[in-house]
Amino acid sequence: MCVQCRLRGAAGCLSCELGFYKSAPGDQLCARCPPHSHSAAPAAQACHCDLSYYRAALDPPSSACTRPPSAPVNLISSVNGTSVTLEWAPPLDPGGRSDVTYNAVCRRCPWALSRCEACGSGTRFVPQQTSLVQASLLVANLLAHMNYSFWIEAVNGVSDLSPEPRRAAVVNITTNQAAPSQVVVIRQERAGQTSVSLLWQEPEQPNGIILEYEIKYYEKDKEMQSYSTLKAVTTRATVSGLKPGTRYVFQVRARTSAGCGRFSQAMEVETGKPRPRYDTRTIVWICLTLITGLVVLLLLLICKKRHCGYSKAFQDSDEEKMHYQNGQAPPPVFLPLHHPPGKLPEPQFYAEPHTYEEPGRAGRSFTREIEASRIHIEKIIGSGESGEVCYGRLQVPGQRDVPVAIKALKAGYTERQRRDFLSEASIMGQFDHPNIIRLEGVVTRGRLAMIVTEYMENGSLDAFLRTHDGQFTIMQLVGMLRGVGAGMRYLSDLGYVHRDLAARNVLVDSNLVCKVSDFGLSRVLEDDPDAAYTTTGGKIPIRWTAPEAIAFRTFSSASDVWSFGVVMWEVLAYGERPYWNMTNRDVISSVEEGYRLPAPMGCPRALHQLMLDCWHKDRAQRPRFSQIVSVLDALIRSPESLRATATVSRCPPPAFARSCFDLRGGSGGGGGLTVGDWLDSIRMGRYRDHFAAGGYSSLGMVLRMNAQDVRALGITLMGHQKKILGSIQTMRAQLTSTQGPRRHL
Ligand code: AMP
Repeated sequence: MCVQCRLRGAAGCLSCELGFYKSAPGDQLCARCPPHSHSAAPAAQACHCDLSYYRAALDPPSSACTRPPSAPVNLISSVNGTSVTLEWAPPLDPGGRSDVTYNAVCRRCPWALSRCEACGSGTRFVPQQTSLVQASLLVANLLAHMNYSFWIEAVNGVSDLSPEPRRAAVVNITTNQAAPSQVVVIRQERAGQTSVSLLWQEPEQPNGIILEYEIKYYEKDKEMQSYSTLKAVTTRATVSGLKPGTRYVFQVRARTSAGCGRFSQAMEVETGKPRPRYDTRTIVWICLTLITGLVVLLLLLICKKRHCGYSKAFQDSDEEKMHYQNGQAPPPVFLPLHHPPGKLPEPQFYAEPHTYEEPGRAGRSFTREIEASRIHIEKIIGSGESGEVCYGRLQVPGQRDVPVAIKALKAGYTERQRRDFLSEASIMGQFDHPNIIRLEGVVTRGRLAMIVTEYMENGSLDAFLRTHDGQFTIMQLVGMLRGVGAGMRYLSDLGYVHRDLAARNVLVDSNLVCKVSDFGLSRVLEDDPDAAYTTTGGKIPIRWTAPEAIAFRTFSSASDVWSFGVVMWEVLAYGERPYWNMTNRDVISSVEEGYRLPAPMGCPRALHQLMLDCWHKDRAQRPRFSQIVSVLDALIRSPESLRATATVSRCPPPAFARSCFDLRGGSGGGGGLTVGDWLDSIRMGRYRDHFAAGGYSSLGMVLRMNAQDVRALGITLMGHQKKILGSIQTMRAQLTSTQGPRRHL
């Protein structure tokens, strides 16, 4: 029988030609071979796939042949401690199929990227490692300070049929710091009547150099009343001063520069019972002590009756009340290492240097004196009102030099300025958190006054974002904010109110880890170029400060939360100036009337909502830092929640629309505005002549200036350079906002 007929007629049937096929006998016409397939001979029953094209088992013969997809594109990583979020875009060529999924391959590279090994079973992939439908993945439980290489393969229904290697996008990352793992093995070495010796093993994953161990101990069932801590640098310690015959609970944890690990399981030890043996000498001594005590008590009672006493305690509490009545911040309570964790009304766990009677003592308690000869200054990296900031290296005996930033107090300072300057170190020295700038020490010998901190390669967050406008993924920006939030949560837990939280006071390291910096009250009041005098006295950075703190100077963690909302806005707007070029007075009145900064370009709705929550008029309604961190963590865990963007506006409230430069008019930009007008509007009018001498006669020319051009005009003050560049950036942004939206990677 002639089955593969093109036509059946009198002449019998003609077989299907090359390029055509008929899969079953019948009267139907021959069909053309589907795309990427061919028939090898006439009268074909099926068409075979072209070279490198395949048909999956369930594909019908009528379907086109397909091939494996190309590699995914735009693979972006965002490292957060020991987790990384990977995001990518689908392959440009899906191979002609719609069943593309992704597999992740994780490789750990302890020595070099050329020598990697499989990541091992401890690594967690969320939602899973293979057959991913969505183009994103969270990889957690990675080792700290480790190089990793991630391969994201795109596969489809015919990938298994192809002998060719799978196409993948690759990204290499280095994880950041993580706290050490828990101390798991802890043993009692010896227990006396008043002391207990303990021994433990280093945690399995120190994740860095262990700086010290903390031993927490308390009488059994009395943890809520009081506990004590002891520090040790080795893995053994003797706790003394204990009560005889008492059951104590001990726990140990390790600390590295990344923070503290979890406490070990509790271990109970009972101290030895006292032996009730008294010799005659002891009995006589006890009796004498009792009699003396009674006599003293009697004398005191007589004295009190005659009102001849002077009670220091009463005087102190009166003074405290006066502080409150003056509307000043209540004096912080200094709690030494042995403090009860119980319910103090307003617990503040950091010591305010200004409350020390002898101010130098605060410095000595919390800072380490560094020999000036151990510091090698290499270059100047910034300058503030109090002096210059330099980059240098700190020699550490037996170790590699540590890169550091050195802040030096400028010459000609008064004793008070020196004390205020060093107070920043006394505050910083009490903090220990991966998102708080770490103090290395101070140089105070002779006339020198320097603060030495860890070096942050990317400098301050505002300038960093401005120079990398539009270059980060939303996830990376949220990661940065999460860091700032975690640092602030730590500070607020300690009872420390920052008062000047702003992107300019956050520093960024080479891994994009953000750390809160700039501590010390005097600096907030005097040094910050963004601070302005208020009617209540004192200088306040208006744009970043909560209304109640501006009006009544009621600074609190809740007012820091307001500032955090402004930092969120700065980050999402890549360092744009909050409230643009509105005057401080306009900012105060518009905020008072309920105006809030609109969402920056491309800002996810969820983030703008969080900002608005931080800017709640009633400070009690604002979220706490712990809640902010939880919200940011939740957003990081579910990237799809960041997809919906808020409605965008770049201009101030309508009443101040005049100050939103109309850059559309005129070819040079800037409408009718002159360079002088512009400088006046940002309170930099003093540089009119500099601009004129540099030949910058129109705003259009100004718009093309970069940092070098501004410095070339002889504007040396860093704060002023920043202000001018920030404003130029804003004007450019306004211009682009009329031309198209910002593109986040
Ligand atoms: P400050 O006087 O603390 O505001 O510092 C002035 C400038 O110096 C900052 O804006 C930074 O650019 C730079 N800076 C300060 N501290 C550091 C640091 N630890 N690492 C790197 N740069 C720093």
